[in-house]
Amino acid sequence: PAIELDGVVKEYVSHGEVVQAVKGVTLTIAEGEFFSLLGPSGCGKTTTMRMIAGFEDPSRGNVRLHGQDVTNVPPNKRDVNMVFQSYALFPHMNVWENVAFGLRRKKVAEAEIKRRVGEILEIVDLTGREKRRPREMSGGQQQRVALARALVNKPRALLLDEPLGALDLKLRQAMQIELKRIQREVGITFVYVTHDQSEALTMSDRIAVMNDGMVEQLGTPREIYERPATTFVAGFIGTSNLLSGTVDRLRSGFAVLRLGDEDQVLTEGGSFAAGEAIAITVRPEKISISTEEPTGDLSVVRGVVSEVVYLGLYNSYTVSLAQGAEMTVFQQNALDSTSTAERGDAVWLSWRPQHSY
Ligand code: ADP
Ligand code: MG
Repeated sequence: PAIELDGVVKEYVSHGEVVQAVKGVTLTIAEGEFFSLLGPSGCGKTTTMRMIAGFEDPSRGNVRLHGQDVTNVPPNKRDVNMVFQSYALFPHMNVWENVAFGLRRKKVAEAEIKRRVGEILEIVDLTGREKRRPREMSGGQQQRVALARALVNKPRALLLDEPLGALDLKLRQAMQIELKRIQREVGITFVYVTHDQSEALTMSDRIAVMNDGMVEQLGTPREIYERPATTFVAGFIGTSNLLSGTVDRLRSGFAVLRLGDEDQVLTEGGSFAAGEAIAITVRPEKISISTEEPTGDLSVVRGVVSEVVYLGLYNSYTVSLAQGAEMTVFQQNALDSTSTAERGDAVWLSWRPQHSY
């Protein structure tokens, strides 16, 4: 493995009180992996990264890089490099000088510098822009220079802390694809910090979802999206509907949850008991909406459409259920779709039991 964190804790003393920024993180990142730390602001992502880089010492626990314990090794002796949101380029140097700076300082031979800088500028798609100064370039180009400057040292792992945070949405999306391509091309481990779930889902091989100093779930984007382990993860990643109720009875492998008089929500029931209070989540795109009663072994709830928003590719419906809950439903606008429900319509919402969890 490239990076191992073992029970890593970081405590700060702030106004005489001990604050735990990171509360015991254990995880393993494989060589060559694109790994993201995802979570809301203040959950401890940056602190975790800074401990990997060596800018912070853990209060407890160990950091290993490529099998070696580096817990007490200074940053410049670790085979990692970090890229920040503020590109921190030298304003008086052009692109070439910015990228070559670290190699010059390490007294690398001039011919070798020329070869390596040229090669890395090619990879980040800045060939031909060598003479530009940072202020003559767009935010996206400046970020590429920062990236090139980190990569030219050939670190075995690159740490990126919200590197696209300063870019507008369109550019950010383009850079997400670029970053992924660059990572594949250089073949090294990337650890990426973001609070943006769509960014993490787009780029990562695996994601650690963090909340309040801890990892809530670790998995592939698909696992995290389709099978969120906690209600926090379900709420943080994508849109989801949360329904709570009491298990009414068990029926052939399903637990039947009753919400209103006619509603029945089926959920895979192996571990539930009748009378137990449970909460389930279901994604908006797994639900169908119909003005006719559906048949079959489906979860079915009734409600009234309170809002329809046309979003191009799909419509987003807000449906008020009899017991007061609201559900969000996404329905794709297919070629042949004759518009179904409208505001004020009484509708049935249904989904397959295996699509709730
Ligand atoms: P994130 O990057 O996920 O937004 P951080 O790692 O920056 O979160 O911060 C996690 C928590 O630790 C926050 O509550 C923050 O206020 C606190 N924290 C971070 N650095 C320090 C520090 N140097 N001194 C005191 N508290 C800190
Ligand atoms: Mg941060």
